[in-house]
Amino acid sequence: MKAPHFEYEKPATLADALRLLSAGGDNAKVLAGGQSLGPLLNLRMARPDLLVDIRTLPELRACEDDADSVTLGAAVTHAAIEDGQVPDPTHGLLARVAQGIAYRAVRNRGTLGGSLAHADPAADWVTTMVLLDAELRVAGADGERVLRVEDLVEGPLSTCLAPDEIIVSVRLPRLSADARWSYYKFNRKPGEFAEAIAAVVHDPARGVVRAVLGAMEGAPHVIPDPHALLGGDIDALAADIVTRSGFAPDTYEHRVHAVTLRRAVAGLA
Ligand SMILES: Cc1cc2nc3c(=O)[nH]c(=O)nc-3n(C[C@H](O)[C@H](O)[C@H](O)COP(=O)(O)OP(=O)(O)OC[C@H]3O[C@@H](n4cnc5c(N)ncnc54)[C@H](O)[C@@H]3O)c2cc1C
Repeated sequence: MKAPHFEYEKPATLADALRLLSAGGDNAKVLAGGQSLGPLLNLRMARPDLLVDIRTLPELRACEDDADSVTLGAAVTHAAIEDGQVPDPTHGLLARVAQGIAYRAVRNRGTLGGSLAHADPAADWVTTMVLLDAELRVAGADGERVLRVEDLVEGPLSTCLAPDEIIVSVRLPRLSADARWSYYKFNRKPGEFAEAIAAVVHDPARGVVRAVLGAMEGAPHVIPDPHALLGGDIDALAADIVTRSGFAPDTYEHRVHAVTLRRAVAGLA
C-alpha cells in the first residue's frame, strides 16, 4: 500500500515548526527519521493532512556537554550515537544500546526523539532513558516544559505529549567515572525489537542504583528496590520482581523477563 495524500513542510526553525503544527491541529504530525511513521503511513494507520519535517532543525541537532549532564538534540540519530559523534555521559552505554537497534539503514535515519515520542514498549531508548532518569525539553505553542522520561509513556504507542508539542532535547545526568551499567536485550536475532530488556546502573559516587525492565506491555517498569539486586539470591529475586511487574509465574513471558534481568545483573558484575 502507499501512503495517503498529505502536505509536506520543512520549516527552518523550531518556532516555524510549532506554528505549522499549531495551525494544523490534530491533522498535523511531526516527521523525524520516518522509520516508524513511514510504515504507519503506508499501512494507512496514520492519516495526517500535514507532515512537518523536523529532522534538520538546528535546535534539535544541537548537543551540550557540561559538568553534570549531556543534552542531546532530539533529532540526533541512532547512528550518530553509535559512532560517538555526540557526547556520551555514560561511558559507553549509549553506543552499546544504539548498535543493537535494528540495522544500519534504520539507525542512519531513526532519531532519539522520534523513538521516545513513538513510545513502542520494546524501543531501546525508552528503557535506556528511563534507566538514566533522563529529562526531556518539550516545546509547544504555549511555551516549553521539562518532563522526566519516566513520566512520558502512558501506554503502548501513547505518551503525554500534546499533538502540537515537539521534543527538543534529552538531558542525561553524567555518570561518575567508576559507575557501572549493564544492558541486556533479549531478541531472537540481532537487529530485531526486544522481547525483553533489563538494564541496571550503579553509580556509588552519586548514590544511584536504578534498574528497569523494558519491553513490557506499556511503560518500562522501574524496579522499586534495586539495591537488593546488588547481592542476595538473584534467581529468586528476579522471579519475584518479574511477578510483581505484572507477569504471571510459569509463563513464557515471565521466564524470558526473569532470565533477562538475571543476565543484566550478571553483566553488572
Ligand atoms: C525494521 C525496523 C526495525 C527496528 N528495530 C528497532 C529496535 O530494535 N529497537 C528500537 O528501539 N527501535 C527500532 N526501530 C524503530 C526505530 O528506532 C525508529 O527510528 C524510531 O522508533 C522512530 O524514530 P524516527 O526518528 O524514525 O521517528 P518517526 O518515524 O519520524 O516518528 C515516530 C513518531 O514520533 C513522532 N515524533 C518524531 N520526532 C518527534 C519529536 N522530536 N517530538 C515529538 N514527536 C516526534 C512522530 O510524529 C511519529 O508519531 C525499528 C524500525 C524499523 C523500521
